[in-house]
This record gives sequence, structure tokens and C-alpha cells, in this order.
Amino acid sequence: MPVLLATTNKGKRAPMEDCLRAWGIFCATPEDYPFEDIEETGETFFDNALLKARHASFSTDLVALSDDSGLVIPALGGAPGVFSARFAAQNGGYDGAFVELEKRLEGLSHRAALFSTMVLYWPDGTYKTAQGQTWGTLLFPPRMGVGFGYYPIFCPDGFDRTFSQMSIDEQRSCSHRIKALTQLKRFFVRP
Ligand code: IMP
Repeated sequence: MPVLLATTNKGKRAPMEDCLRAWGIFCATPEDYPFEDIEETGETFFDNALLKARHASFSTDLVALSDDSGLVIPALGGAPGVFSARFAAQNGGYDGAFVELEKRLEGLSHRAALFSTMVLYWPDGTYKTAQGQTWGTLLFPPRMGVGFGYYPIFCPDGFDRTFSQMSIDEQRSCSHRIKALTQLKRFFVRP
């Protein structure tokens, strides 16, 4: 039985697929098993991850793996957090979001983290969850390159470049998403 990756975001999906494949786990995508989108109405990463995984599993009768993630900035009370994608949309896209964040952070700490919460959900209604965090500093102006979302402004601790300027291997070595996924590894094969 494949594990259904409950996301159409290829930037999220590629590292998850590669990691699972390396563990010998076969993945399926929403393109293989189409189901309707669900609105992310939760107030936390966990709420939304659970919503997405449950919906995907119930819709396909497969084990589903979801990720809900975002950029957390303590100096802004944790914003944009669970609203990271919507914050970009409200600012006309990521370029607008970067300008807005730089403005809001004037004189404040640029400390930030990328958070990922994952839920692995079985069709019988049971699930497991895990979280990964990667801390770093926001750098302006943005540095374009490889990756999506807030990668052009996020410099992880221990590096002098933003995520978008790092190789795929470097990105994965400190990815919040891989950290969450690794904690779930033992649940992919059930006794
Ligand atoms: P969602 O989990 O689909 O709600 O998307 C969360 C949003 O957070 C994404 O659209 C990006 O804006 C941002 N985000 C989440 N993970 C990453 C990442 O790994 N790199 C850059 N931005 C991310």
C-alpha cells in the first residue's frame, strides 16, 4: 500500500518523496488519487495538518501523510505562522510579503523559525504526529535561487546564506520538514 502525500506543493513534496523512497516506502500523490481540496480552517499547524491528512485518507482509503508549515517570527508574536501562505497572498505574492516583513521588522529582532507539523493518518481513524523546527535569521533584501516560499530571506543557523542559496543536499540537512518526517519513520511499518 502506498503512502499518500496529501499535498500538491511540489516544493514540499520532493524532499518527502526522496526521504520516504530511501526508506523503501512507496509514495502516491493527489495526482494519482485525486480528491477535492479542503479549506485550511485550523488555528494551529497541528489542526491544519490533521484536517488535511484525515480528509485525504477518508477520500482515498489510503494511509495519508500531511504537512502544515510556516514561518514563525517571535518579534511579530509568531506571525505569519499558520497564515504564512495567506500572508503572501495578501501582499500580492512573496516579493510583496518580503517588503512588508522588512518594514514590520524595522528595529526588531530578525530571529525566525520554519515550523513543520506532520500527521500520518490511517483509514481506521488512528494517527501519529510530529514537529520539526529550523531556527535562523531573516535577511533582506531577498536572495533568489532554489526553493519556494520564504526560502529567499531565511538564513538557517550555522549557515551564512539563505535557504535559496544552498544546494538541495544542504537544504535537506537542516530541513524542518525532514526533522518532522524522521520522527515518524518508525510508524510507517506497522506491526
Ligand atoms: P501550507 O503548509 O500549505 O499552509 O503552506 C505554508 C506556507 O509556509 C508555504 O506556502 C510557504 O509560504 C511557507 N513555507 C512552509 N514551508 C516552507 C519552506 O520549507 N520553505 C519556505 N517557505 C515555507
